[in-house]
Amino acid sequence: MTDASTTTDLPELSSLRDTVRGLMPGLRSDLEALTRIPSVSLPAFDQTHVDASALATAELLRAEGLEVEIVREGGAPAVIGHIDGPEGAPTVLLYAHHDVQPPGDDADWDSAPFEPTERAGRLYGRGAADDKAGIMAHIAALRAHKGALPVGVTVFVEGEEEVGSDSLMTILERHGDKLAADAIVLADSMNWDIGTPALTTTLRGLIRVVVTVSTLDHGVHSGMFGGAVPDAISALVRLISTLHDDEGNVAVAGLKAGEAADLDFSEERLREESGLLDGVSTIGSGSLLSRMWTKPSLTTIGINAPSVEKSSNTLVPTASAKLSMRIAADEAPMDAFAALEEHLREHAPWGAKVEVTLDDQGAGFAADASGPVYDQARAAFADAWGTEPVDIGVGGSIPFVAAFAERFPDAAILVTGVEDPDTRAHGANESLHLGEFEKVCVAEAALFARLGAMGRS
Ligand SMILES: [Zn+2]
Repeated sequence: MTDASTTTDLPELSSLRDTVRGLMPGLRSDLEALTRIPSVSLPAFDQTHVDASALATAELLRAEGLEVEIVREGGAPAVIGHIDGPEGAPTVLLYAHHDVQPPGDDADWDSAPFEPTERAGRLYGRGAADDKAGIMAHIAALRAHKGALPVGVTVFVEGEEEVGSDSLMTILERHGDKLAADAIVLADSMNWDIGTPALTTTLRGLIRVVVTVSTLDHGVHSGMFGGAVPDAISALVRLISTLHDDEGNVAVAGLKAGEAADLDFSEERLREESGLLDGVSTIGSGSLLSRMWTKPSLTTIGINAPSVEKSSNTLVPTASAKLSMRIAADEAPMDAFAALEEHLREHAPWGAKVEVTLDDQGAGFAADASGPVYDQARAAFADAWGTEPVDIGVGGSIPFVAAFAERFPDAAILVTGVEDPDTRAHGANESLHLGEFEKVCVAEAALFARLGAMGRS
């Protein structure tokens, strides 16, 4: 990690802080207006609201002097805006998404999901954090520098992140030239804690397979043949049991594993957040965060076999399971698939026939978290919080991050966010910590100033 003291002080920092503070009431009311639009991108919901949130986002950008278009490539509308910076200044691409998750059951919310409501310093509402506050952080940085923008800025606000970004690849193909930038800020992740900013530098990738085990060409009476002839469910279960060692580490040979940053995360917190039952141990070895962020994990997520209700005294001929494997950020998904496939074939018990089919795959993301842009980003976070950001990982995948990394290999990618551990994105009572949000806005405004200064030096 770079020491912020090696980067220069930002001369305009205190005035930027004051400027952002003065902007907060306007940012807050614009955020509330966006949150009132129920832009749920799940197809079962009324998609005119997603159109409305794209329009509202476009209007906000236009008001800051950006040239704006709404593009649609077979999916939900995305908003692209651009404004030039001074001659020779770097260009920053800012990402957020304007669609939201379904609210779930209204009864689970303490206030109506699409009526933003403040309680104890937090603004509650679906999308109040994920990710409409991400949009407003970008607007805040633009407003803070209005009339004297130190960098060129392109904004890309997607409309279907919550349903898997299906048309994102097409959008990047057809409009990617407009999005080229020196630095990309993807504001859709989280900070480590209230008071501790974070940059998300690793995301795990994913491999999902279906493994089918066969021992017989048809089912036979378990009383007649049981004892001499193996059934497929027992063979499948034995095969699955070889996927972990006794400690619970993934036992598939040849997979990559990394180490997470040394952050304080207790077993107590893990137990509480996951609902792990008393007496049930954790699995795996090494730090808990490494197990969840940087090492592979393997989970059996479904089994096809006769149900308990429909079972009879039969040796089942064929059974299958779906396995979901999270892989280290820098692991090539197809290498991981090959390793898993080989393991499953080699460990088939009793010569059972094994068939493995690939169900889904996704690359992880490992930021090259060094270099001048990262130095300035860390310094900008320190400007806002008074403390250096920590590097965190995310155990799951964020498909668009890998998509941007692939499309723009030369740009520095910064994964930032407005969320904190109590945000409950996707859940009932989603909320934004308003004090932290102001710091997010200061950090992004400071980043603009720092990148602009870097371009001039
Ligand atoms: Zn999001």
